[in-house]
Amino acid sequence: MSFFSFSFGGGCTTIGIPDSSQRNAMDFGQIAEMKVCTILETGVSEEDMNELFDHWNDELELYTLKAVPYVYGKMDRPGFMGQSILTYLYNLKLEPGCDRILYLKGRTWGDIVFEFFTLGIFAGIGIKLEIQGAVDSETHSRGYIKSKYISTLQLLFSSPKSTLVHEGYHLLGCGHQLFMEECYVTIRNLKNLAKDQNTEQGFFPTLTSRGQKFQTRRKVDSQM
Ligand SMILES: [Zn+2]
Repeated sequence: MSFFSFSFGGGCTTIGIPDSSQRNAMDFGQIAEMKVCTILETGVSEEDMNELFDHWNDELELYTLKAVPYVYGKMDRPGFMGQSILTYLYNLKLEPGCDRILYLKGRTWGDIVFEFFTLGIFAGIGIKLEIQGAVDSETHSRGYIKSKYISTLQLLFSSPKSTLVHEGYHLLGCGHQLFMEECYVTIRNLKNLAKDQNTEQGFFPTLTSRGQKFQTRRKVDSQM
């Protein structure tokens, strides 16, 4: 499964060790907006979405960036496992007005039963590995997070808000690294790319962790 970067409970709440003095020394330029077309799974409300984005934007303020949510759709989950959400997202086009696509996964009775059993299985060895979210590693333009979990061990390590911040860094082109410096540079590069004359008007471009640039929605879609 190399196409998506996954975030697991516990192990992946930070993408690198932050260094605020290093970050403060960098100039991230003027405020820029990233339009995030957001799909709400049944059971996830616009209020939930706004609350998550408020928290995310507190983080993005550090980079003079703002994520603006648009409700792109409301739907039942396209399949039970996370993979089916990814496949669904993989087939969507980046429409005008969307810079990124985010799917907010809810919590169904099926999930609760599934959590109960996996908890049972892993309780013996004290580990509960669960995917909290993922972003596509080919274009860093779309991803999902589990936005409504309230299960036992999970909240000790992560929450939907921290998952969104984490996956949000991937949506800005960052990978995982020991220190955040590389990620700061990536975000600064991305903001410069947004002002580049070859970038589609009104599009907040994407960068991959391998440094590949996507300056038009068409290029993103053709890669998908
Ligand atoms: Zn991650």
